[in-house]
Amino acid sequence: MDADVVVVGAGPTGLLLAGDLATGGARVIVLEKRPAGLSNLTRAFAVHARSLEVLDARGLADELLTRGQPVTSLRLFQRLTIDLAGLPSRFRYVLIAPQYEVERLLRRRAEEAGVVFRHDLQVSGLVQDSDGVTVTTADGASLRARYVVGADGARSTVRGAVGIPFPGRAVIRSMVLADVRLARRPADLLTVAAANDSLGFLAPFGDGWYRFIGWHGDRDVSEDEPVDLDEVRAIARATLHDDFGMTEARFLSRFHADERQAPTYRAGRVFLAGDAAHVHSPAGGLGMNTGMQDAANLGWKLAAALRLPDDTAGVVLESYDTERHPVGRQVLRTSGGILRVATLPGPFVAAVRSGVVGLVSRVAPVRRRAALTVSALGVAYPRPHGAHPLVGTRARDLPLEGGTRLAEALRAGRFVLVAPAGAPTPDLPAALGEVDPAERVVTRRTDGGATALLVRPDGYVADASAGA
Ligand SMILES: Cc1cc2nc3c(=O)[nH]c(=O)nc-3n(C[C@H](O)[C@H](O)[C@H](O)COP(=O)(O)OP(=O)(O)OC[C@H]3O[C@@H](n4cnc5c(N)ncnc54)[C@H](O)[C@@H]3O)c2cc1C
Repeated sequence: MDADVVVVGAGPTGLLLAGDLATGGARVIVLEKRPAGLSNLTRAFAVHARSLEVLDARGLADELLTRGQPVTSLRLFQRLTIDLAGLPSRFRYVLIAPQYEVERLLRRRAEEAGVVFRHDLQVSGLVQDSDGVTVTTADGASLRARYVVGADGARSTVRGAVGIPFPGRAVIRSMVLADVRLARRPADLLTVAAANDSLGFLAPFGDGWYRFIGWHGDRDVSEDEPVDLDEVRAIARATLHDDFGMTEARFLSRFHADERQAPTYRAGRVFLAGDAAHVHSPAGGLGMNTGMQDAANLGWKLAAALRLPDDTAGVVLESYDTERHPVGRQVLRTSGGILRVATLPGPFVAAVRSGVVGLVSRVAPVRRRAALTVSALGVAYPRPHGAHPLVGTRARDLPLEGGTRLAEALRAGRFVLVAPAGAPTPDLPAALGEVDPAERVVTRRTDGGATALLVRPDGYVADASAGA
């Protein structure tokens, strides 16, 4: 074997996964077709609260915060404000930070953990057998690994090679994307506005540049048609009622969005994660976030599977699809829902949209639910019948003995057993007792809570019980 795991694609999904695998003791090679060091200005820019928690549990969030701009509320369609300041998290906002900054930090961490990167190598196919997978590249090289993960984006070669389909459809065409400078500063909000069959979205990067995404229902032109600043200004005026004196653009393009999901994220020893498994519109800014959370779910399971007997490894690995596929489906629904409400044409629909949004904005539990959905803090995995209600939910960042926090304890990439303060040294459950002691951390909570928690390496509750 050349590696335990070959990860195809060095986007945010592949980078986070590779770092987690290496932290978990796996030998990892990342294959990437792009040359090293090529930054991509055009992609995602919203890092939601759950992703910030995921990055915190890898020691990267505080640094990323210095590279972005926190935004505490989202204004949708002029009337609905989703307030993120009440989120149950250390990160009560969405951080506007360019994708290349997220990738830079994840890459550094992966390299420090020993991941080997091979650039300018395009994977062209793979074959698997009962022991492993042989990956071939366009220049005729081949590599062998026990597992392969396709984190190679929407047009995934890995997905095609194992014959997993990618059903779905195009949902919006001719969207305009522009990174611009503004003469006048808009209110400090992420703004999504729909008016007159147009849609406009504006977000500050925090360094003087703003991301504008716009769409005009009457203008369905080919993606090759150039975009100029006048078109961007016109959509901004139609939707946001101001172009804020857009002056300079560092990037202008036209793109379309598809809504697609692979029916399964696994074929034997081959897994799919991120855009290779699901794509949707940019509405909600969920793409990069969902990919990183796929990676966090898969990484520790694959690292564990390398050490476990085959039958146990099989159960652990199967849970990746069981847990993440429904999340992907929900993300498609959320993003598609926002997009459809925003782009339905006609004055009657506009009136209904305004009425519905106005109604939603007055119902606090609905607003709270919307914030939990967009931030992904509300994501929970299936709970076995009769298990403690916390099982499957994300563990909140608890204060722990020694002045640390749960997110810091999770940086070891292991299970963390949290006992109530003052409890005797925890008597480990039999199943956990069989695990190498080096694979879990035992600590005590100092928040006064009386519940003992066994937290998985990805920060979700594996087990819980009242008292020690
Ligand atoms: C133009 C554009 C604008 C976007 N805007 C937003 C946005 O505003 N908000 C948002 O949330 N999301 C946005 N997205 C989506 C977001 O960027 C993705 O969800 C995110 O990048 C997914 O990460 P990933 O790592 O799964 O895949 P990717 O970032 O696509 O990474 C896949 C990697 O695999 C490599 N690769 C592909 N095929 C091969 C191969 N055969 N061999 C080797 N390497 C290969 C690619 O070079 C790439 O580096 C946008 C995407 C695009 C293209």
